Amino acid sequence: MATTEVVQSRRIVTEIPGPESRAIQKRRGAAVAQGVGSVLPVYVERAGGGIIEDVDGNALIDFGSGIAVTNVGNADPRVAERAAEQLGRFTHTCFMVNPYESYVEVCEALNRVTPGDHEKRSILLNSGAEAVENAVKIARGATGRQAVVVFDHAYHGRTNLTMGLTAKNMPYKHGFGPFAGEIHRMPMAYAYRWPTGPENCGPEAAAVTIDRITEQIGADNVAALVIEPIQGEGGFIEPAPGFLPALAEFCRAHGIVFVADEVQTGFARTGHMFASEHEGIVPDLITTAKGIAGGLPLAAVTGRAELMDAVHRGGLGGTYGGNPAACAAALAALEVIESEGLVERAREIGALMLARLRTFAERFDVVGDVRGRGAMVAIELVEGDGRPNPEAVARVLKHCHARGLVLLSAGTHGNVIRMLPPLVIGDDLLVEGLNLLEEALAAL
Ligand SMILES: *Cc1c(COP(=O)(O)O)cnc(C)c1O
Repeated sequence: MATTEVVQSRRIVTEIPGPESRAIQKRRGAAVAQGVGSVLPVYVERAGGGIIEDVDGNALIDFGSGIAVTNVGNADPRVAERAAEQLGRFTHTCFMVNPYESYVEVCEALNRVTPGDHEKRSILLNSGAEAVENAVKIARGATGRQAVVVFDHAYHGRTNLTMGLTAKNMPYKHGFGPFAGEIHRMPMAYAYRWPTGPENCGPEAAAVTIDRITEQIGADNVAALVIEPIQGEGGFIEPAPGFLPALAEFCRAHGIVFVADEVQTGFARTGHMFASEHEGIVPDLITTAKGIAGGLPLAAVTGRAELMDAVHRGGLGGTYGGNPAACAAALAALEVIESEGLVERAREIGALMLARLRTFAERFDVVGDVRGRGAMVAIELVEGDGRPNPEAVARVLKHCHARGLVLLSAGTHGNVIRMLPPLVIGDDLLVEGLNLLEEALAAL
């Protein structure tokens, strides 16, 4: 099967969005529900490496990876070929009706690459939200307990349960209640904004959380603690050192299932295969999706065999979960991550980007914080007094989008610019993207 090589350079031949994109956008208004937005409505023709080509012939630098999905690049030939080969044999039988080997192989691979060398099992699903819902089902089924602990700034999805687990009202939850019960929110160890200073943040946030669980819920009532090892939509907040290990230890001591939501951080993104590894955390359950299959929809829950196997037969599943083409793509994507050394490449990308972003923080007062790991980095924009500055983010994004850099915002206050380039992007495109960002900051 022929996959088209995408030339790895930025090329702007029309205004952004161009006339073809604007024409489609106009049709979209009459056909697509308004509730689904697009950050940058240039309509895509093809994509690969660090470039997205649109229908007007523009070539944009990709600092988004379709929200941390195309870690191995878009339409990687190995992913595309393996998925196409599968599509030519069968498209669907439903694993719950007639199973197939690739589902088992993906589970074997997930059990191998996720943190910890204990006995594991996995289940495959369609989306990150579905994985998080299933992790909660499994934790409740296995413990016989009901309460779920989550954190400020958390994002876990858009279904009813995961909206409830998510922190931010607008746009995710507004008007969509009532939400599920037994969800308890705790403070996040957000070093940059911790009242007593970043060095106290990890231990103090852990102590508050543990105290509240003990006093307000009762540890014995808690089925699961669900946390992103680096928060994604919430603003690329790295938990201050010591926070995650203290929570993991508390969970272990009280039979609480520690669930790492690695939907955004997984699959080499942060310079580890999984972000939990950074502080040596071994989650009881880990949810994955986004980067798992090179762009095809797939998600998973992987975890301790005794928890995963505690659920009665037939209690877990779904019609499409572990679709055979998505499984084929996942096996190819994992091979690419391992054979191309993308964990190491993510670290190089992080080193290059963070060094440059720190010079921006010195040069521009508006850059309050620079943070992240591997190819998951961000800057937080602030007013002179440290208050969040979402207007500056909107202006920087507008400037960069118009010049062909796909850049995303994040954060509870919308004042974070996040960068998630594909791990196969070249240094030249990274530098060019950062130059555009610097120019946008200078123009504020
Ligand atoms: C994106 C995301 C989800 C939801 O995944 P979907 O595939 O959009 O349902 C859940 N958790 C985290 C941490 C995410 O980043």
